[in-house]
Amino acid sequence: MGKYLLLLAFLCVVWWIWRKGQATRRALQRRSSVREVEPMVACAHCGVNHPLSESLRANDRYYCCLAHQREAEPTRQ
Ligand SMILES: [Zn+2]
Repeated sequence: MGKYLLLLAFLCVVWWIWRKGQATRRALQRRSSVREVEPMVACAHCGVNHPLSESLRANDRYYCCLAHQREAEPTRQ
């Protein structure tokens, strides 16, 4: 009888560790998904949405690429 109780206690510990691992994995997934959500900005020239970190900023306007920035804003010397 004592052997079964020991086995049950062992299974409880295993289950508890497994649940703890699941919770940690879920928390990590949530954190990584939050990091993936990035503000999107529209290109002032073509209107295409793209991540803020990949956009070019000029005069408080965002552009998807250097070509569009140059087309929208003629170079001023
Ligand atoms: Zn563009």
